[in-house]
Amino acid sequence: MQTIHNIKSIYAGGACGGGENHLLFFSERSSDLAEAQKICGSCNVQMACLAGALERREDWGVWGGVIFWDGEPFYRRRGRGRPRKNESSLPIEANRAELWQLVRSA
Ligand code: SF4
Repeated sequence: MQTIHNIKSIYAGGACGGGENHLLFFSERSSDLAEAQKICGSCNVQMACLAGALERREDWGVWGGVIFWDGEPFYRRRGRGRPRKNESSLPIEANRAELWQLVRSA
């Protein structure tokens, strides 16, 4: 699998395509980030994008369906305030080693 290093080429080749979606991917709102992750889910360069983000140790943004927040990967971010009743109790932090395993097995 080829890793994409250039950010512009990632967006150009992906489902996000740059443009108006770009702000969703770097928003501070958890609902925007979740929306961005949905777009990644239908992207044909998702694993290459994730690999690139892991290699570059991205600080911020949604890359390959994973949220990078202050340098750490997350599967999801909670909104502010108390969790809703129907909110999952699953861990929200992602493990870098597991993400690399996912990329390599793709
Ligand atoms: S995986 Fe997500 S961020 Fe990466 S190119 Fe595809 S849509 Fe864009």
